Amino acid sequence: MASVIALQSARAGFPAGKLGGTAECCASPLCLICAGGGALFFCPGGCIRHWQPFLIEVKDKMKQALENIRQTAAELLAKADSEAALEELRVRFLGKKGEVTAILKQMGKLSAEERPLIGALANEVRSEIDEEIRRRSKELADAALNARLAAETIDVTLPGTPVAQGKRHPFQQVLDELKQIFLGMGFEVKAGPEVELDHYNFEMLNMPKSHPARDTQDTFYITENVLLRTQTSPMQIRTMEAQKPPIRIICPGRVYRSDAVDATHSPIFHQIEGLVVDEGITFTDLKGTLEAFIKKLYGENTRVRFRPHHFPYTEPSAEMDMSCFKCGGKGCPMCKGEGWIEILGCGMVHPKVLENCGIDSERYTGFAFGIGLERIAMMRYGIDDMRLLYENDLRFLKQF
Ligand SMILES: [Zn+2]
Repeated sequence: MASVIALQSARAGFPAGKLGGTAECCASPLCLICAGGGALFFCPGGCIRHWQPFLIEVKDKMKQALENIRQTAAELLAKADSEAALEELRVRFLGKKGEVTAILKQMGKLSAEERPLIGALANEVRSEIDEEIRRRSKELADAALNARLAAETIDVTLPGTPVAQGKRHPFQQVLDELKQIFLGMGFEVKAGPEVELDHYNFEMLNMPKSHPARDTQDTFYITENVLLRTQTSPMQIRTMEAQKPPIRIICPGRVYRSDAVDATHSPIFHQIEGLVVDEGITFTDLKGTLEAFIKKLYGENTRVRFRPHHFPYTEPSAEMDMSCFKCGGKGCPMCKGEGWIEILGCGMVHPKVLENCGIDSERYTGFAFGIGLERIAMMRYGIDDMRLLYENDLRFLKQF
């Protein structure tokens, strides 16, 4: 009965330990009864023959396991798409706790004849996997390099991306030209505030609160005494207060009037103010300077004429016309058949304005003028609607 009990326990879990035995024992390391000890305590039906199927099964199982590993590894390696994935597979199959290693650890269970066979197969599988990992690794590196090369390829024959080139607004072009002309005559360019005090915009220019000339220069008030300047003339006052004669300045800038927008009016427009103050300045200087300016701008054959006018801050005052640059004075639609085009207002600085600024009007005299930049730009480029200058339509602006 002892033999039956031992066999059952052996099949249930193959307890370790030598059970003692006979010379006929199979002595295989895979014999889980004797654990390779080469001794069987009993033999329930003819020792070796009886256990042979079991021994073969273990060997076949190991062989099968190795073949499975070989196949699984090959499939997974083919799918691995990164170095990290390859490393994961290396650990899984070849690592210290890897699947191939686990098989090798069981080699002790095989017989002396079987061990080299399984060992050789295990080594073969191991080096196959190892080689495949190296191959895949190189393949991935090559693919990455090729992808990078392809992505970074530069076709030097492709046309370049054009860079849109901006240009100066027609205003700015005209203004720059005007500045150059006056700089050439010894003028300085000054800039002043667009938000101005009533004091500088009107009072100091001989236009007290009740003066009727204010009616034509209605503007936008911030407070009763702070407003958007209606003209660049306040810069005359600011300059004369800050600087003693001789003075020769132009002040280009934006000015504001409470006007509705139409082809010839805008609530914002541009002026260039001019001022000359020195000893012995006469109306002849005014005429000479402005005539020289117009001839530089419109050509040497341009003629000018002065018509008496009235401004509160100049005395005498005049408006200057120039001969039509289109018809030369014969009369055409540009000059409305007149042959003359009104171009600017000017005059000798009113003695009271000089005195307001602390300049001795007995010793010094001066002249001033104001030019509308829109008028100059429109005539220069044949533009018939002022609004075009402010709309920033590129189709329009690209023409200049
Ligand atoms: Zn004309």
